[in-house]
Amino acid sequence: MDKSIAVSQDLENIITDIAEVARILWKLGWAESNAGNISVNVTEHIPEDIRELNKFPSKEIDKSYPELSGFSFFITGAGARMRDLAKEPSGNACILRIAEKSNRYHILWGRRSELGFEPTSEIHSHLSIHRFLLEKKAPQKVIIHAHPEELIALTHVKEYKQESKLNRLLWSMNPVAKIIIQKGVGLVPYCVPGSDELAQATIKALEKHDVVLWEKHGCLAIGTDMLETFDRVDILNKAARIFLACKSAGLAPEGLSDAQLDELERLFWSKK
Ligand SMILES: [Zn+2]
Repeated sequence: MDKSIAVSQDLENIITDIAEVARILWKLGWAESNAGNISVNVTEHIPEDIRELNKFPSKEIDKSYPELSGFSFFITGAGARMRDLAKEPSGNACILRIAEKSNRYHILWGRRSELGFEPTSEIHSHLSIHRFLLEKKAPQKVIIHAHPEELIALTHVKEYKQESKLNRLLWSMNPVAKIIIQKGVGLVPYCVPGSDELAQATIKALEKHDVVLWEKHGCLAIGTDMLETFDRVDILNKAARIFLACKSAGLAPEGLSDAQLDELERLFWSKK
């Protein structure tokens, strides 16, 4: 029988939130088949000293992450479906700790390596982003990648491949987007899914944004907790949906005016 760490109430609550967001992502059609992946830095909820750590299943990663040695992450499995994760998190994800030899990890909880479990093929982008957040001492611990339909649709339109134009559109379609998503979305030009190029371009975009759209593919969002991170994408996608609803009805949406957007900025944006 494999070992598994005891799960604290706080960690249990995080896993419950992950399962809830996975369920919503699938229901919204943002995680078709095995699309989408989630990771959370859960280091603070894992005991620092784990007895007999070497008895936990361990695996090699094809890259080394010395800065992450000793850090633990909840991460979804390769090929795992969000609809299955919602029902059974431990069967479709794991908590892994990067070992002292930083090109290895131990699986502390969840599907065992003996069952052929592999973390998401996007593991390198997730670990690179967590490393970037830790280097910046940023508070965000959650990373969600999903396929929000209407936002993706906009990235297929030439006119909105300019970040400033895209943000102007999204803000003008939903005042809540203007109030909450003050940094706007970052736009990453198309890169092959799972590529290092995509990971690096995403990190660059995360310097200025908490939500990044991958052209013709999906979005990646970071946040301090699962539900808040999901909400941000939901608010932005609502803006895109309103725009497309008008368009598909043959109507030209007016959107909020510059004066109305300026007013929201004056009233709600934090002044530095
Ligand atoms: Zn994807």
